[in-house]
Amino acid sequence: MQYYSTNKKALPATLEEAVVKGLASDKGLFMPWTIKPLSQDFYDNIDRMSFQEIAYHVADAFFGEDVPADTLKQIVYDTLNFDVPLVKVKENIYSLELFHGPTLAFKDVGGRFMARLLGYFIRKEGKKQVNVLVATSGDTGSAVANGFLGVEGIHVYVLYPKGKVSEIQEKQFTTLGQNITALEVDGTFDDCQSLVKAAFMDKELNTHMQLTSANSINVARFLPQAFYYFYAYSQLKRMGKADNVVVCVPSGNFGNITAGLFGKKMGLPIRRFIAANNKNDIFYQYLQTGKYNPRPSIATIANAMDVGDPSNFARVLDLYGESHEEICKQISGTTYTDEQIRETVKCTYDETGYLLDPHGACGYRALVEELKDDETGIFLETAHPAKFLDTVERIIGDKVEIPAKLQEFMKGEKKSLPISKDFVSFKEYLMKE
Ligand SMILES: *Cc1c(COP(=O)(O)O)cnc(C)c1O
Repeated sequence: MQYYSTNKKALPATLEEAVVKGLASDKGLFMPWTIKPLSQDFYDNIDRMSFQEIAYHVADAFFGEDVPADTLKQIVYDTLNFDVPLVKVKENIYSLELFHGPTLAFKDVGGRFMARLLGYFIRKEGKKQVNVLVATSGDTGSAVANGFLGVEGIHVYVLYPKGKVSEIQEKQFTTLGQNITALEVDGTFDDCQSLVKAAFMDKELNTHMQLTSANSINVARFLPQAFYYFYAYSQLKRMGKADNVVVCVPSGNFGNITAGLFGKKMGLPIRRFIAANNKNDIFYQYLQTGKYNPRPSIATIANAMDVGDPSNFARVLDLYGESHEEICKQISGTTYTDEQIRETVKCTYDETGYLLDPHGACGYRALVEELKDDETGIFLETAHPAKFLDTVERIIGDKVEIPAKLQEFMKGEKKSLPISKDFVSFKEYLMKE
């Protein structure tokens, strides 16, 4: 399948080019040329299939023309070797727990899939090493590093702001070794992102080494996120509750929700979506006014959603022919303050015993406020509450149990290379690699 750019100026690319480059040459985002609907037979039988079987059908529609069936099946089955339970929180409201993977956040799915797909292309072409640069404020770095750990032909450089990520998060990408290098930048997250951007722009560096990105602009990272929307639907169908499904997605860069919108275009019967924002409500404002006004992000307790210019907004526009009216038909929005997030975590814990993380709390609250009587709501629980230990323990006034996987990371020894926020020295370092 060919991939076009949302800016419509770059020439179409193959899947391999799209994955290896990340961004189109005109700085647009890659989109698959066609979105193939899945067969009626698939939807009739979806409630009798396993997560892996369902995901393989979806992966085949996206990547089947470019990757041999047995390889693609292997990639899907290797990626999804953990549970994604659908847990009832309240009448008609369910939590899709996407945090049972290695780093306890939904980004594990895309990170693992992308690592395996890129690994396949490198082996097939006998390509020289590909280098993944990723700037992180916490979660992306750990998911990408763990997804790519040990994959031959790929080296990952994680850039993170010194002293600005939690100890648990830091341990998840600084203790791995092998093909993962952690670079501790004396600066902010924005400085890390500027270093990565400058590296992608630098001609000499790009001749010296093949660089790519592994955030949700990369099609191999974001499209596999469609898998779990299909699976969630299959679970509801099994329960006889699949008639008017509403899916609510706590959103930052909008990669996750965009994958769900792709699912709907493939015939998945989801009635509508809700994008839950924290105070970084650029998308919410767009829905109200039709105007897209990016602005600098502000820090909140749902920090993985602190995004002031959501990178996948271009894909949402493209999916609906840039029509504000059409987008409003598919998606509504909500926005919450830190105070409202705290209140939601606390009340839900007290009333139902279910412990939300600050991101999932935005999703849950939106459903409580917006769901109609004849609808069934699912919100994506994007991370385990223990990943935000201090915040969550302070809110509920109680200890949070730390999962064994997270404790394992804590035992590892931190290894990282301190660097300055100055591009010249970063470049010098990479040129010697
Ligand atoms: C990345 C992330 C989000 C936001 O997802 P997008 O695809 O960027 O919209 C929400 N919650 C958590 C915990 C995350 O790590």
